[in-house]
Amino acid sequence: MRHRIAVVGSGPAGLTFARVLHRHGHPVTVFERDPSPDARPPGGTLDLHEGLGQLAMDKAGLPAEFQALSRPEGQAMRILDTDGTVLRDWRPRPDERANPEIDRGQLRDLLLGPLEVQWGRGVAQVTPGTGDGALVHFTDGRQEAFDLVVGADGAWSRVRPAVSPVTPHYTGITSVETSLDDVDTRHPDLARLIGDGSVAVHGVNRKLVAQRNSGGHVKVYAQFRAPLDWHGDLDLADAEAVRASLLALFDGWAAPVLELLRQGAAFTHRPLYVLPVSHTWAHTSGVTLLGDAAHLMPPLGAGANLAMLEGAELAEALATGSQDLDETVRAFEERMWARAERWAKITTAGLERLVSADPSEALALFEEVQPS
Ligand SMILES: Cc1cc2nc3c(=O)[nH]c(=O)nc-3n(C[C@H](O)[C@H](O)[C@H](O)COP(=O)(O)OP(=O)(O)OC[C@H]3O[C@@H](n4cnc5c(N)ncnc54)[C@H](O)[C@@H]3O)c2cc1C
Repeated sequence: MRHRIAVVGSGPAGLTFARVLHRHGHPVTVFERDPSPDARPPGGTLDLHEGLGQLAMDKAGLPAEFQALSRPEGQAMRILDTDGTVLRDWRPRPDERANPEIDRGQLRDLLLGPLEVQWGRGVAQVTPGTGDGALVHFTDGRQEAFDLVVGADGAWSRVRPAVSPVTPHYTGITSVETSLDDVDTRHPDLARLIGDGSVAVHGVNRKLVAQRNSGGHVKVYAQFRAPLDWHGDLDLADAEAVRASLLALFDGWAAPVLELLRQGAAFTHRPLYVLPVSHTWAHTSGVTLLGDAAHLMPPLGAGANLAMLEGAELAEALATGSQDLDETVRAFEERMWARAERWAKITTAGLERLVSADPSEALALFEEVQPS
């Protein structure tokens, strides 16, 4: 008998889950709050690790498609001192496939492929344990029952309360994001500064990172320790006011580095929230979580990778494993929790060192993780 399975969210977790189930010929319903795939900008580039996100792409049957679109050269990493001195300039070998980059939009389109997502279906909550399975309540008042509802709806998951009362907390580090377009033609000096991958500059309790996406698009992240209300009366929608405030915060840094902020078009404020390092819950029949909904952690290159591998593994287990849903989901959860805890520890410690009172910590971390 086929189980009725729904996944809430069409991010990396939800789409990988649905795509792998689809590959195994198992029907799955995908509910997404956004009205269409292009309703909002897809976000920056993601590096997919060999044993995580790339393994998930293999399980989705998309290794060649990923290889064709991904950018191994995007793994390049340059570290500057705040006076502009180049401290490290690491470039991958042409055959280095450990963590190639791919634009989020390209990844989403690859995974979407033949999937039929129900766009514009925001979920308000999920009630487990009704006579007919778990009940999904939509924001428009409708309801639908499933044997299994998978919450892949990100940091502020509306499915999570069905299994856990825990909510994300602020790390004490915030991030303001801006971007540059056509960097090679419009800002050739910045294009040279950034290189093929990323440039990072670490100061006392703050850092600036610029990362190349495909097509000459660059995302710039200013991260700093600050209370949540650091901006006071500042209107965060006023790009000139935010720019001025950031330039004051990074005052004294080399002019070419500050140019990354001067040339940015619009600014988006994204305080960094996390779930507890060990977030588990009592197994609840008919509902589980994947990705950021289960283990939101600092953005140090692991979240999407874990989300995708979890999606692929749960889908495979459901399609090929025991008919006992509880047994399958329980075993999956145990495995997910153990792996996520390991990565949550690594990324939490990493964020502390990358935005630190001692900027040499960031360089030391780079030496520890980067192949020579
Ligand atoms: C600046 C930055 C850079 C990062 N870089 C990397 C990186 O290089 N590598 C890496 O592995 N990770 C990276 N991450 C982390 C990564 O973005 C996340 O871990 C990943 O997106 C989690 O995927 P997800 O599918 O769990 O959630 P999400 O990507 O958040 O997707 C959730 C989906 O659910 C939908 N949704 C939300 N609520 C509802 C609702 N109520 N009803 C229906 N749908 C809903 C949303 O619209 C969205 O489509 C980065 C994060 C940030 C902020």
